[in-house]
Amino acid sequence: MPRRRLSERQTARIQRIQERRRSKVEARAALAASDDDTARDGLVVVRHGANLIVEDRQGRDHHCVSRQHIGHPVCGDRVVWQPCGPKAGVITALHPRDTLLSRPDASGAEKPLAANIDLLIIVVAPQPAPTGFLIDQYLVAAERIGVSALILCNKMDLLVDDAARTAFLDAFQHYAAIGYPLLPLSLKQDPSLAPLRQRFAGHAGILVGQSGVGKSSLIKALLPDLEVRVGALSGATGLGRHTTSAATSYRLASGGRLIDSPGVRSFRLGALERAQLEQGFPEFRPFIGQCRFSNCRHDQEPDCAIRAASTAGSIAPIRLRAFHQLAKTVTRDSSGTH
Ligand code: GDP
Ligand code: ZN
Repeated sequence: MPRRRLSERQTARIQRIQERRRSKVEARAALAASDDDTARDGLVVVRHGANLIVEDRQGRDHHCVSRQHIGHPVCGDRVVWQPCGPKAGVITALHPRDTLLSRPDASGAEKPLAANIDLLIIVVAPQPAPTGFLIDQYLVAAERIGVSALILCNKMDLLVDDAARTAFLDAFQHYAAIGYPLLPLSLKQDPSLAPLRQRFAGHAGILVGQSGVGKSSLIKALLPDLEVRVGALSGATGLGRHTTSAATSYRLASGGRLIDSPGVRSFRLGALERAQLEQGFPEFRPFIGQCRFSNCRHDQEPDCAIRAASTAGSIAPIRLRAFHQLAKTVTRDSSGTH
């Protein structure tokens, strides 16, 4: 068999892969080296500036600071920490993150908000009725972060008969068809929120949605001791009530965690490239790259695979409209023209 000559690019690629493997092993060794008698795993449940609260495996809180040069731990980060004094400690290493939720700060730079979230719950209600394409926007964000999403239809009690309930839920069926479950609920009629608690089990989730749909009421019902917990955290950090503005990870008695803060609740999708927006619509993916023009906007162009899929029923027309609307509002113009 003739020996295959590797191109420079292939050789460089192989070297890169090896480097990555080595650095992984080194990282693991570094974590193991810090694993002395006192090092232990923990979860950052709140961060306020340089002050962090780390929850240990037994569910106890410790006021920690972070060693320099290990990165910036945020709420939801899994860390290695060492106790130093009662209820106090130092974070010595950061475990790799599965997901990261961030939001743009005043200057437009992405600021990490919370790590390792794996469930985005989009709350909607008959009143106030869903507006614009906010749900689609949240779903694109979920796809970007790599978390699963579900649509919680709250205040179902406001719909007086079966016909009204069916009509309301029908408006969301095209989301269910592409894999985003619908969860009809009424906090008023079922304050135990058992179906929602079940969804949380084993997950770290956040609630988002437009103002007035019931997010704070749902969170209060999920965490009846919320104020007590916030008070305890404020006391532990010595930061007073400011801590309430920081993203906080709450353990649910029924299993799972709820991450919440005013910033998390008002989380919005940041600016994207058009190609990233396309990837945010999972039902588009089989057709991406199949249009006649590589820069197709899926609008008026001939031989557009996305529009053809919409006509054929594989893509809901309303999702294509959502795509066009979001393309106008959230895409960065990478060509540099406006
Ligand atoms: P947020 O802005 O999303 O945090 O919404 P709020 O939690 O402040 O709720 C807005 C209003 O909706 C409040 O008056 C709540 O009492 C009410 N609300 C919340 N859940 C339900 C529900 O299941 N049924 C009805 N009828 N009202 C609800
Ligand atoms: Zn197209």
